[in-house]
Amino acid sequence: MARPLIADIDLDALRHNYRLARDQAPHSQAVAVIKADAYGHGAVPCARALEDLAPAFAVACLEEAETLREGGITAPIVLLEGVFEAAELERVEALGLWMAVHSEWQLQALLAYRPARPIPVWVKVDSGMHRLGFPPEQVERVWERLVAAPEHACDLHLMSHFATADALAPDYFQHQMTLLDALARRLDAPTCLANSPATLAWPASHGAWNRPGVMLYGSDPLEASNEASRRLAPVMTLRSAIIAVLEIAAGEPVGYGGRWRAPRPSRIGVVACGYGDGYDRHAVDGTPILVNGQRTALAGKVSMDMLTVDITDLADADIGSEVVLWGRADNGEVLSVDEVARHCDTISYTLLTGVLPRVPRRYH
Ligand code: PLP
Repeated sequence: MARPLIADIDLDALRHNYRLARDQAPHSQAVAVIKADAYGHGAVPCARALEDLAPAFAVACLEEAETLREGGITAPIVLLEGVFEAAELERVEALGLWMAVHSEWQLQALLAYRPARPIPVWVKVDSGMHRLGFPPEQVERVWERLVAAPEHACDLHLMSHFATADALAPDYFQHQMTLLDALARRLDAPTCLANSPATLAWPASHGAWNRPGVMLYGSDPLEASNEASRRLAPVMTLRSAIIAVLEIAAGEPVGYGGRWRAPRPSRIGVVACGYGDGYDRHAVDGTPILVNGQRTALAGKVSMDMLTVDITDLADADIGSEVVLWGRADNGEVLSVDEVARHCDTISYTLLTGVLPRVPRRYH
């Protein structure tokens, strides 16, 4: 038997989540963010599954766009960070991409390049994230230069990214929004502002386009979930099985460093999944795991190829039993990747993008 570890990808759930994103913002178009190999789910299969729903896709770099084009995806693809060097503009044009322009050198490179057809451009504003984008006071001038160069750039949009749209406290979000509203009105510019949390919780940010990412994969991005975010469905199920069972006496340690000690005579299941597969080594004892669709917990530090789970109270658990590290078990029970992430002191994004290539993806 092959090593029983697989990432099951539920493409119907992906479509459900995309529709949910779209329905939250009925007056916007939703560009499906499928960078980082669709957050670890496989960019080409995910794009194919969304092709009839999503009018456009977003990626981080040219190579990711090339992979999509090679995979037969013909829809518009936007480069969220634009180009990394002027020489990439030729490929941007050849592949029919749209691009963000976030800095002066990119703008100059674009204005110096003569495409056969103008390139659709999203002007990125730093409205408070302080990562990429033109300072607000420069945007009007940037916009004017692009408007004056219709042979280089077309379909201009204002784009920005929120730093705190997931948080309960609205102050900083509103600070960014006020600034963006004023800019968009002054320039009469269509916008693309909302990430997943803003798509779910901040209708004021919904523009001509929104950019949902993590919610498409079923992760709830909100600090306090709302009615819509609770309807998201997990797309990836990281599924394995118990490959060995041992009985240990009370007080015996399990795994590296003996971090977990049996509080009573215990049965321990050894699971074929470790940090060499992308399961986070920071997972603490007590991190939830489903065995045969029943909740139990990690017992001991995660190893490279294995982890250990307490199955003392699960009479049916044995070698071959189904183990779900996150996602949906065969009996329908769900363990959200968000809950696992909290036990690893991280976020769902790192767990999902961290599933390594040796874990086969299976699409259905
Ligand atoms: N837009 C940009 C520029 C991003 O960097 C990201 C994600 O990192 C997204 C949209 C999607 O964000 P989320 O996955 O939170 O929806």
